[in-house]
Amino acid sequence: MPLPVLASVNFSLTSRSVLCWIAGVVEGEGYISMSGSLPRLAVVMTDYDVVSKLGSLLGVSVQTHNVRQPHHRTPYGVVLKGSRAAALLETLTPLFGERRRSKALEVLSRYKAHLDGVAAAREADNKELTAHWEQVKNTTSFRQFCRSKGIARRWAKLRLTQSTLKLVNSSSTPEFGSFDALSSEEKLAWLAGLLEGEGSFVSRGVRLFVSVEMTDLDVVARVARLFSRPMHKQSPRKSNWSTSWRTATQGPRAYMLCKQILPWMGQRRSAKIEEALRARDAHAESLGQSSGAHLSPVSALSRKFSDTELIELWRSRTSGSLSSVARQLGVHPQSLKDELVRLNVYTAPVPKCRQIVSYVCAHCEESFLRSAARVHRYCSRSCSMLGNRSASLNF
Ligand SMILES: [Zn+2]
Repeated sequence: MPLPVLASVNFSLTSRSVLCWIAGVVEGEGYISMSGSLPRLAVVMTDYDVVSKLGSLLGVSVQTHNVRQPHHRTPYGVVLKGSRAAALLETLTPLFGERRRSKALEVLSRYKAHLDGVAAAREADNKELTAHWEQVKNTTSFRQFCRSKGIARRWAKLRLTQSTLKLVNSSSTPEFGSFDALSSEEKLAWLAGLLEGEGSFVSRGVRLFVSVEMTDLDVVARVARLFSRPMHKQSPRKSNWSTSWRTATQGPRAYMLCKQILPWMGQRRSAKIEEALRARDAHAESLGQSSGAHLSPVSALSRKFSDTELIELWRSRTSGSLSSVARQLGVHPQSLKDELVRLNVYTAPVPKCRQIVSYVCAHCEESFLRSAARVHRYCSRSCSMLGNRSASLNF
């Protein structure tokens, strides 16, 4: 998909894109939990500049954590607790992947129940106080009544007049429908946030690889869709690890993407990206290509036709199929598709391998997410073994 290139980013919490960036960072490195009866959102990363940017956006200070291994980088963290964490989670929940969304909703509902409990207890207290005041108001003064109760008069007045207290005030933050409803700029901001934590940028010679590996299938599927690349299942490399999913992009697409997300990235990643871009430019120059031209995937097609010509050609086609049009033009269907997608006149159907479907495990009966490419019966290898064994015992 064509994504806009931004010159710089104005980091403020009222911007939708910035909230999308935070959603991406939280999806990668965030930890949502309950702290007593309060919601808690923590983000821990080793890049101080990224964490401090997040901290200043959220209005919390950066904490330095202990290094677990001497060769590790120092982790820094920010923690948001209570009503502010609840407000942020409420805003970001529609943008989270399935696992994080259900955790956020659980935390929010427990917090809501807690607030309802507090409100009910206060209301009962206030009612008791009111009843008591009604009893004694003809024999004692209000001042004496307050002194006997040990509460300030101003507070007592408030409690007598107001039975319930409003605990959560609605904030004026933007509302999000779903991730798919975001604009391309907002999706880009989310991706930048996620890549900051979970992305891996590797340059081998002149080739740049950007990859993401996570255990959340739906999140990786989202990235794969933004990359226009497939994703792959990664078997656990250690026995106590779980299955993860990986998607990667490289070459011109990776460069284009890096240029687009550069304004969002922290110092370490920015330096890496800029170094890779320079290496690529130097290589192109040594080959006698003009520097920069190779960064966007310019196909033979866009050299033959101008953008408007190509749009016209596509709109006035007689047969609908992309491959037949490509055949007429004498180009590869993929390069025609890439151009049409770039020009916003063609939306590629999501291939089955990138469609995520919810299945119910035939053994443990828990629901799980897998690709729609083939039917999955079991959620895990152990369930598959147990399920198959009990099935064979029946015969
Ligand atoms: Zn199972």
